[in-house]
Formats: sequence, structure tokens, C-alpha cells
Amino acid sequence: MATGNINVSVENIFPLIKKFLYSDHEIFLRELISNATDATLKLKHLTSIGEASVEYGNPVIEIKADKEGKKLHIIDQGIGMTADEVQKYINEVAFSGAEEFLNKYKDSAKDTGIIGHFGLGFYSAFMVAEKVEIITKSFKDEPAAHWICDGSPKYALEASDKTERGTEIILHIAEDSVEFLEDNKISELLVKYNKFMPVPIKFGTKEETLPLTEDAAEDAKPETVTVDNIINNPNPAWTKQPTDLEEEDYKNFYRELYPMQFEEPLFHIHLNVDYPFNLTGILYFPKLSNDLQIQKDRIQLYQNQVFVTDNVEGIVPEFLTMLKGVIDSPDIPLNVSRSYLQADGNVKKISSYITRKVADKLRALFNDNREDFEKKWNDIKVVIEYGMLSEDKFYDKAKKFALYPTVDNSYFTFDELIEKIKENQTDKDGNTVVLYASDKEAQHSYIEDAKAAGYEVLLLDSPIVPHLIQKLEGDNEKTQFARVDADHIDNLIKKDEEKISKLSEEEQETLKTKLTEAIPAEKYTVQLESRDSNAAPFIITEPEFMRRMKE
Ligand code: ADP
Ligand code: MG
Repeated sequence: MATGNINVSVENIFPLIKKFLYSDHEIFLRELISNATDATLKLKHLTSIGEASVEYGNPVIEIKADKEGKKLHIIDQGIGMTADEVQKYINEVAFSGAEEFLNKYKDSAKDTGIIGHFGLGFYSAFMVAEKVEIITKSFKDEPAAHWICDGSPKYALEASDKTERGTEIILHIAEDSVEFLEDNKISELLVKYNKFMPVPIKFGTKEETLPLTEDAAEDAKPETVTVDNIINNPNPAWTKQPTDLEEEDYKNFYRELYPMQFEEPLFHIHLNVDYPFNLTGILYFPKLSNDLQIQKDRIQLYQNQVFVTDNVEGIVPEFLTMLKGVIDSPDIPLNVSRSYLQADGNVKKISSYITRKVADKLRALFNDNREDFEKKWNDIKVVIEYGMLSEDKFYDKAKKFALYPTVDNSYFTFDELIEKIKENQTDKDGNTVVLYASDKEAQHSYIEDAKAAGYEVLLLDSPIVPHLIQKLEGDNEKTQFARVDADHIDNLIKKDEEKISKLSEEEQETLKTKLTEAIPAEKYTVQLESRDSNAAPFIITEPEFMRRMKE
């Protein structure tokens, strides 16, 4: 038996770790399962390149809670550690065996999916445990080792009689952390952090009903069997090649990701890049009409299939945070503040890659099936309009597919619209005037009037529109937007055209006097005539600039 001091320069690092290393105590389980996964993937790699002559088999990671004994066990069948390796990897805090492994097998191990790299994950166990034991047997033919540490820098390392390969971590859960012994709590954490990790994770057993065979007797009862309760899907859709997936697979994965979400997504975007950074993932465009769900089901960020966060602010451009799905990248620095994240070169590249992919997908949908794209427009326009406003690169691409619907449900791109109206809707300064309504009901008379004059009237009713209009005007010289109820429309109306009023001359006179009294002439214009006999008897317009000032 050997005893010694854990190699750290501070007198007692554990209270520090407990308080400051991770703000969330619950992540200890994620860290320990990540280590168990790494140990398993390392063995897989070593057997595949012939450096370990053992049977890899079908390794499983098992989580066992012992409520009475107040112990939590994490058991793997990975490469294990010799006593020397425990000295090296565990007793030297902040020495990462994962990093060392990746350096040693640089080229061949690039895609093993090994998670660790800070060399601190293991010690997160002390956030919830007052004592931790490691019982481990290496795949190499060496005796098993048993390490015990009670949270002080003193540890004990002795021989163990463990015969099966792999590592068992035993956490003696501290009094203030007994919640982590509850099945419900453990399940919740496993689902949150480990749902898509690459090695099967077992937590207890469950009953499964076998389907009846076709020739079963009519009164046969279905048989139930007890099977391992595997909590994860080790091969989630985003890790596969797009060519290996059908539309249905993407929909199924969406349901897997958001089990409480019953609305199907409109379409998906499969992300897959390995240079100059590594990133995979699937983004979904949800129906954005359902506002409540937007808040709850957010894009989830993973690193090598380990859940990290569902706050992707700073990583994904803000307008795309309305989407759903997953992004998995080992190249996003995590233990740093959000503001630092935004300045990180890789993160910037990732953000613009995602923006580009989303724009390309939208463009493809538009080109391949315009009719369908028009049908979806109402559900996706918020994202696109918001993106056009906030990201110039996206704006440039979106110009080709962003749609402008008319009050009669025709859809134009901006260029198509200008082409269509430039002859007919020009004011005396030579500007092409784009007429739009923001409320079909309230502006009904104005709309009818403009239509009767042969003008196109857009229906732009989202709250972003006033800003988008400014952007479009700035970007297109000689283009002016005017809401149908603005005075601006008068500049368009050809003076020689006949206008009629519904009212008798006498009525017109009375009304005029009344209205002049009631309405300040410098703010509004009153007009009694119209080109459409069905229009209202009089309409009041407000100068476009006055209205914009109020917006
Ligand atoms: P990291 O995972 O970032 O390398 P950790 O503190 O999580 O750092 O773990 C330190 C090292 O301890 C690992 O790199 C690995 O070499 C070793 N280790 C931890 N858990 C296990 C395990 N279950 N099986 C084998 N080795 C392990
Ligand atoms: Mg680790």
C-alpha cells in the first residue's frame, strides 16, 4: 500500500473546486460518464489499431445508486488504469490523460470522439461526494488498483482484487447532495446531459413487452421481459451522413430531441464541416406561429455528443436562435465568458458558416419549389426578415428569396416587384413607390382605392417591417415605400383620372366644414373623392414622414 500527497501547489484544492470550478454541481455526473466514455473509446481505438489484444465486445457504462449506503457507482469496461497510471492521471490535478492520448495518437485518433481535455473533470466528483474511490483494472496484464480520497489532499492507493477490465468510480455522496441518489434526479441528469453519448449507458432495468408472433394463439398474452434500461441513443442522426438519412429520420430525430413538441418542423438543415473547424448538427425551422414553444425548445450545443448547454447565444447569430436542433463542435471554447466567445476566431467562423448554410438552404427551397416556399413564408418570414436586418451577409443572400406578399396573396421577390411596378408607380421625383398595407382590415378603403388605380399593394404586417423598409430604401436608390394611408400615394395618382364622391355636393360641403374643425390640417389630409365607388365616403391620410416619426 502506498500513500502520498496529491500534487497540487495550493494547500487544499478541493474546497476551491467545490465552490468555483463549476457553477452547476450536477455536471459531476456528466464529467464522470465522459471519462467512462473516453476510457471505452480509447480501448476501441487501441483494439482497432492492434495495440490492445483484448476483446472489445459490447461495452456498457453502468450507473448504480445505493440509497442506503449513500453511494453512487459509475462502472465502465474501458481501458482502466494501472497503479502507476492512477498516480499519473488522478494524483496530478490538471494533467489530462485525454489530451495526452490524443497527442500520442495524433493522426489515427483524430476522429475517436474523445471528450476530456482540461484534466479537471474527475475532481468535480468532490462537489457532491465526501469520499471518492476508484477501483480500476487496466486492459494490460497488471494488478488492479484501489484509490481512496476523502477530499483532503491525502489519498491512499492499494491493490484490489478486481478481475474484470475497466473502472468503477464510487462516490460517497455528501449530506448536502443526497438528492443525487434519487432515481428521478439521476434520470433527469442522464436525459439532459447523456442522451446522445456514444457508448450505451445503463441505469437499472425496465420491463418490455414482446410483440406477439403472427401464429400466436388468439388468447395468447404478450410476454414481458426485463431488459437493461439504456438511457441513450449512441448514434444520433446528426452524427450520420445526410445521404444515409431519409426525411422521416430527420422528423424522428426531432421528436427524440423534443419529446413534448407535437408540431412537425417545416424543414431541416444538416450541418457537416471538418475544415477549418469541426462542426456537425441539424437545425430545424419550426413553425414560428407557435410562440410559446420557441422559448422552451432551444438549439442544444454538444461537444462530442455530450450536452453542454441550450444557450447558444454568441455562437449562433441571434436571428437563428429561433431555430431548433443541435450543434456539435469540439472547437467551441466553453470555459470562457460569453463576451470572449464572440471575439473568438473559431466561433466567428462557425457563426458565419451556419448563417451561410441556412441562407443556402432557403435559396434551394425557393428555387426547387417556389409554390411550397410561398406557403411556408408566413411561418419563416420572422427569421428571414430579422436576419436581413441584423446580418449583412445574410441580407445579400436573402435578397434573392425574400418574399413580399400582396394583399391578394401574390408573392414577389423585391426585384420582381420593382420590375412589375416601375412603369406605373413612379412619383414626380422619379422614385418608384412601393405601396404597402400593414393592416388589411383597418386600411381597407385605402387598399381598395389604390387597387382601383391599378397599383400593387403589399401586405407587410410583421413588427420588423418598418426597419426592413428603411434598410431596403437605403439599399435601393430611387425606391420609396409608402403605406397606403399616407399622403404619399397622392403623388402617384394621375391627376386626369376621374374621381368621384359617394356624397352629394351638399353632403360634401357639410362634411368638409365639420372635418376641418375636427382635424388639424397640418397633420392630416382629408379626401372625399375616390376612384372606387365602393370605397368609404371619405378618407383621412397622414403624411408618411409623420407616421414614421411615431414608429
Ligand atoms: P480529462 O478527462 O480532461 O483528461 P479528468 O480529470 O476528467 O481529465 O480525468 C483525468 C484522467 O484520469 C483522464 O484523462 C484519464 O486518463 C483518467 N481517467 C479518469 N477516469 C477514468 C476511467 N473511468 N477510466 C480510465 N481512466 C480514467
Ligand atoms: Mg474528463
